Amino acid sequence: VLDAVTIVGASLAGLSAAETLRNEGFEGRLAVVDAETHTPHDRPPLSKQVLSGAWEPERAVLAAARADLDLEWYLGRRATALDVAAHAVTLDDGEVLAADAVVIATGATPRRLPSMDGVDGVHVLRTIDDCLAIRGRLDAGATRVVVVGAGFIGAEVAATCRQLGCDVTILEALPVPLERALGPVMGPLVTDLHRDHGVDVRLGTAVDGPVVGDAGTVTGVRLGVGEVIPADVVVVGIGVVPSTGWLESSGLALADGVVVDAALLAAPGVVAAGDVARFPSRRFGADLRIEHWENAMQMGPHAARTLLAEAAGEDPTGRPPFDPVPWFWSDQYDRKIQLAGRSGADYEVEVVIGSTDERRFVALYGQDGLVRGVLGWNRPRHVMQLRRLVEESVPWADGLAEARALA
Ligand SMILES: Cc1cc2nc3c(=O)[nH]c(=O)nc-3n(C[C@H](O)[C@H](O)[C@H](O)COP(=O)(O)OP(=O)(O)OC[C@H]3O[C@@H](n4cnc5c(N)ncnc54)[C@H](O)[C@@H]3O)c2cc1C
Repeated sequence: VLDAVTIVGASLAGLSAAETLRNEGFEGRLAVVDAETHTPHDRPPLSKQVLSGAWEPERAVLAAARADLDLEWYLGRRATALDVAAHAVTLDDGEVLAADAVVIATGATPRRLPSMDGVDGVHVLRTIDDCLAIRGRLDAGATRVVVVGAGFIGAEVAATCRQLGCDVTILEALPVPLERALGPVMGPLVTDLHRDHGVDVRLGTAVDGPVVGDAGTVTGVRLGVGEVIPADVVVVGIGVVPSTGWLESSGLALADGVVVDAALLAAPGVVAAGDVARFPSRRFGADLRIEHWENAMQMGPHAARTLLAEAAGEDPTGRPPFDPVPWFWSDQYDRKIQLAGRSGADYEVEVVIGSTDERRFVALYGQDGLVRGVLGWNRPRHVMQLRRLVEESVPWADGLAEARALA
């Protein structure tokens, strides 16, 4: 039976699971728990339109949070434990929510720099509160922005602040930015983009700690070499870790994320979806944990359908496995960067349409003789067309020929 479901994490994965449960006829009790106090917001606009002030925060509220899904909301409440056998979630005030099934959708939490943590004026960016706090600094006249970390979120914050007229410095510990995400050839293009827009990008640069003024607010960042970069606001974007602390006593397999099977089950009646979940990809022959919007949007519904199948007495592992072609985008200045599939430091990469000089191109990534990824800069139509090469694991040489024919 499936009379009650508890969803922990009311963001993209959790609410898309709720939506699917309702759309597929689940009429039972649907409890939704989230540590954030606000109506859930979509996160991509938090480094783009909401941060820049182009959108009011309300515009970023998730559609599923506005929809009439008859949810029992537990906002501002943190789950602290899960009893897997009883499908019972304990909340921070000791209340226990018992149900027939649980959706784990607790996403990820920003990594922090211990030396900078807690200093006034030093921020991370994950929640609407984080976004509005940074926005508040800019509104109050902050003009010198230091971004620690040249990953996608750091790069988007840098682009948004630069477009607002701020002086922006990016500090990146690695010698090659975005090498893990885009590889050693494509990663540096992002640095060049920022430098051409007047951002001071420092690579291979270690951060020593903050410089704090008399008022207790950050006034700069001291580098390992001793130099101080002046700052009115610092945004630390050095990656995220999956939010699994509350599951440590649960007995579930945790390995940089909640380990699930191809049906997204972590245990009977317990599914996980979104940034928190690590699933086996047959397509890529690897266990993947993906920190992208579309992945959460697809995984929530898949997890919900697994619970419904299980409750109907079907074998959920008999359904098609969760194994999509990953999809990601990033908006920086007037460039839309899109990636279908996977890329990596050790992948082959070849530009097939356009040129990197004009920053309008498509490149293919290959591994083991197969097309694994399609990267586009301001080429949305071609990326959509060529996504199929990854979907169908087309041989590298054939993929290159097909892509070049579109040029
Ligand atoms: C600023 C920003 C910009 C982004 N831009 C892009 C982009 O351009 N393109 C792209 O593809 N992706 C982007 N992303 C990534 C995308 O937003 C995430 O992949 C997506 O939000 C993941 O959704 P999720 O539901 O899995 O987890 P999350 O969005 O992390 O939500 C998890 C929720 O669980 C709650 N939670 C955690 N622990 C507990 C607990 N113990 N008890 C109760 N609640 C808990 C949290 O409060 C949170 O609301 C961006 C992310 C950020 C932060």
